[in-house]
Amino acid sequence: MTQSSPLIKSNIERAKTGAFKQSTIYPAKDICIVTCLDPRTDPADLFGLAPGDAAVLRNAGGRVNEALIDDLALITYLAETKLRTGPIFEVMVIHHNKCGTSWLADNEFRSGFEAVSHLEDEALKSEAVVSPADTVRLDVAKILSSTILSRKMTVSGHTYDVDTGLITTVLEAAAMPDL
Ligand SMILES: [Zn+2]
Repeated sequence: MTQSSPLIKSNIERAKTGAFKQSTIYPAKDICIVTCLDPRTDPADLFGLAPGDAAVLRNAGGRVNEALIDDLALITYLAETKLRTGPIFEVMVIHHNKCGTSWLADNEFRSGFEAVSHLEDEALKSEAVVSPADTVRLDVAKILSSTILSRKMTVSGHTYDVDTGLITTVLEAAAMPDL
């Protein structure tokens, strides 16, 4: 018995229902969510989403870094060339308070982690989500300024409060600027 064993059992029960067949490759609610991998910020839980409702990209902090832009580039290209003829999904970037990445603002923690990481001090410092409203603005701006992303998507910025369970919109959905 391992920690994953009960999950595998649940999977067998879930597969029997056949309900998973309703999900499609394109998100049913026309939404792609970028958020932290923190267990408290599961988008299905935050918004009461059903299976297949949203595409979800999660990393530490929900940060828009090079790897995330590369993933977004691929899925937006796929969406606009293979899955949709008109506009494609809105990308919702969500940062939250009390984020584990805020430890990266602590000098001792950061230098300890730097020793075991391939990232340097400045890069680690910039990963910290201390003020979610500020970092979400920065990250939405990064998406808007990218030249490799589909022009057919829109992007919005939000914060999530782990104490109240509420989302606050910081930046309403904006269209990608023309190149
Ligand atoms: Zn977090």
